Amino acid sequence: MSDNKFSLENVKKFSENTASRNRWRVNPDSDFRESVEEGLFENYKQYGYLVCPCREAWGSREKDRDIICPCEYCADDIIEFGHCYCALYMSEAFIASGEEPGSIPERRDQKLMPD
Ligand code: SF4
Repeated sequence: MSDNKFSLENVKKFSENTASRNRWRVNPDSDFRESVEEGLFENYKQYGYLVCPCREAWGSREKDRDIICPCEYCADDIIEFGHCYCALYMSEAFIASGEEPGSIPERRDQKLMPD
């Protein structure tokens, strides 16, 4: 069940804290960043946990465990591509490069995804 006191502001703090703890950065494009954070918040309201807004969720915390933000694939994606699948988190180097985030391959195994 979702907590009614949990707000979009809490999601923003969560992404700041997650980035800071991992020495990542949040996407400096504030509109884009907010759209991903809104997606996380919508998922929180729907499922009760912060499941990735760029993927299809099962709606079961156990089955979605690998894609609860920050997902299990994020660190490897940031190392390899400079940003996570949703491009919410980035490396400092990627931001400094001035490159725009693009579509990256899905690391989540097909058999972990809903049909
Ligand atoms: S790709 Fe992973 S780290 Fe990025 S927003 Fe989705 S769940 Fe979070």
